[in-house]
Amino acid sequence: MQDSTKPSPSALPSVDRLVADAALTPFCQAYGRPFVTDLAREILAEARARLLAGETKSVDLEALGQRIGARIEALMSPSLTPLFNLTGTVLHTNLGRAPLPAEAVAAMAAVATEASNLEYNVAAGKRGERDDHVAGWLCRLTGAEAALVVNNNAAAVLLLLNSLANRRQVAVSRGELIEIGGAFRLPDIMARAGCKLVEVGTTNRTHARDYAAALDGGATLVFKVHPSNYEVRGFTAEVPTAELAELARAAGKPLAVDLGSGSLVDMSRFGLPPEPTVAETLKAGADLVTFSGDKLLGGPQAGIIVGKKALIERLRRNPMKRALRLDKMTLAALGAVLRLYANPEQLPTRLPVPRLLTRGESDIRAMAERLRPELARCLEGIAEVGVAACMSQIGSGALPLETLPSAALTVTPIAAKRQRGAALERVAAGFRGLPRPVIGRVRDSVFVLDLRCLADEDGFRAQLELLDIIKA
Ligand SMILES: *Cc1c(COP(=O)(O)O)cnc(C)c1O
Repeated sequence: MQDSTKPSPSALPSVDRLVADAALTPFCQAYGRPFVTDLAREILAEARARLLAGETKSVDLEALGQRIGARIEALMSPSLTPLFNLTGTVLHTNLGRAPLPAEAVAAMAAVATEASNLEYNVAAGKRGERDDHVAGWLCRLTGAEAALVVNNNAAAVLLLLNSLANRRQVAVSRGELIEIGGAFRLPDIMARAGCKLVEVGTTNRTHARDYAAALDGGATLVFKVHPSNYEVRGFTAEVPTAELAELARAAGKPLAVDLGSGSLVDMSRFGLPPEPTVAETLKAGADLVTFSGDKLLGGPQAGIIVGKKALIERLRRNPMKRALRLDKMTLAALGAVLRLYANPEQLPTRLPVPRLLTRGESDIRAMAERLRPELARCLEGIAEVGVAACMSQIGSGALPLETLPSAALTVTPIAAKRQRGAALERVAAGFRGLPRPVIGRVRDSVFVLDLRCLADEDGFRAQLELLDIIKA
């Protein structure tokens, strides 16, 4: 039996009646009647569902019109927008990884709106190769014979494995069968690339003789993976690249190394923890090396493969390369970033990733001290604001156990112990709700904003007043 006190859905206006309402006329003019009609239908369906569920009693035409207006505004604003990454993880995959330098943005803009020589050799007047726009620089910076670029490092690994070992055996140490975020698990990629995985050694110890046995057993490729996001400690053994290269060479098989982050320069020159460079890995005897464009390198999302010319040629001829190729804007950005590497000394001032990673603790703390009183004023009565030492992480699997001393603004909600959790969530949501969302992290019942990655101090300050919404 239907409850007769419930308003019936027939009380709702028709779609036409709603769209004809004067309040929607400007939207019809700006976005076209069919689009507004679609949204009117959506909003009416939602209102009908709420009426039937007994969640609302009355429906008023004005409110429906406002809801349509709000939905249009939300749809018409870009979905992908900038935010402040104050999580303390510099290369945060969910937050877009490496921020790009102005040179890269200018290079992208220049080719975005005009025709370009993407695959055209202007001097010769004939077809060119798109990767040539960056291959020369990659070879110069790594000492490689040849280079090739694809959409990301996962694609680089897929292309490499499929090109060199389709339906063949690939030897990988059990200690390196990693997962990097749910979607990239080496054994799965290997299966999709058509390879038969030969697990070598044990989780904690792999010896040269284990690889030798796999090669004797018919492995066609030796694949070494930088276990970027974890570290095996204690009673461990791995075979160094140079020794592995010798073994593979003796067996007449190539050695490929997935470096993950892959630095182009030794980061320890800037006081950062050492990470094997691409050049060192090639020098140690790797035939091919793969790495990301948007991790430590500090460029756009890309997968880079460098090494022996004959092997790179095999990868290039794989039809998969066509499906995984880079677009012109990424090539333009990558080219601009690689040119900055011509002078490594200047990287900490000119390239955002090294700049953020090398930022001194005292600088960051001074910024926190400057911002603390202003934030405290905006959160008066809601939370205590302090400055505390903290540790930043490099992120994206690079140097998982290494942290960088930094400083944070700490926001501790004023709330009874039992309401602390809800109060913290309200504070975090208030920061996320700002026009340019601020993303921090909650630790030990405190909302922490690591300021290492705060470049636009004024932009951050300018929207603090809006935090009143937390009070409401
Ligand atoms: C990050 C990483 C990948 C995946 O690289 P993307 O550029 O994110 O696709 C592959 N292998 C290793 C070792 C990594 O660290």
